[in-house]
Amino acid sequence: MTDISYLLSPSGTILEVLTPEAWTAFALANGGDGIADPRAAEGHPIARFISGEETRLSVETALRVAAAGTPLRYLFRCDAPTVRRSMRMRLERTESGDVRAITHLLAEEPRAARLLFADPLAAPAGWPLRRICSYCKRIEDPGRPGEWLDGEEYESRGHTLEARLSHGVCPDCGAHLEGSFEGEE
Ligand SMILES: [Zn+2]
Repeated sequence: MTDISYLLSPSGTILEVLTPEAWTAFALANGGDGIADPRAAEGHPIARFISGEETRLSVETALRVAAAGTPLRYLFRCDAPTVRRSMRMRLERTESGDVRAITHLLAEEPRAARLLFADPLAAPAGWPLRRICSYCKRIEDPGRPGEWLDGEEYESRGHTLEARLSHGVCPDCGAHLEGSFEGEE
């Protein structure tokens, strides 16, 4: 997979998709037919494509840092139902003061488990709430707070898949985000 690159305003508006073919290929591979046309994404806030309030906030923070002139990068997971992907995001200010975002695929592997978590908004209110990390996609063990599990491990411990998800950032990814700030190169 080729890198996907796009220009963002400091406030997070997608100004231009710089690699339209890669954008479309990735959207279609993830069943995102509705966002396959890169021209239709331009002019919209990047937050529209990010799930989870905490994640949106940390992306906004990263954008502000990059727009102020400090390039940075962080790792995140972008899983589809049948594959796990490790990705790297890089943000850097352009000559014109916008921010260039480049996502790079580091690794991709097929996944065995089929997690069927419900859409938190559509799920019955009586279903239990589970915390999921927006970056690594691990889920906090409901019986052992502070322990974050891969989907496969969560399932193997017998936890229910009929749960509502609350998106957040696990301590490992939180520490990684804070440690990802690079100096000027
Ligand atoms: Zn995490």
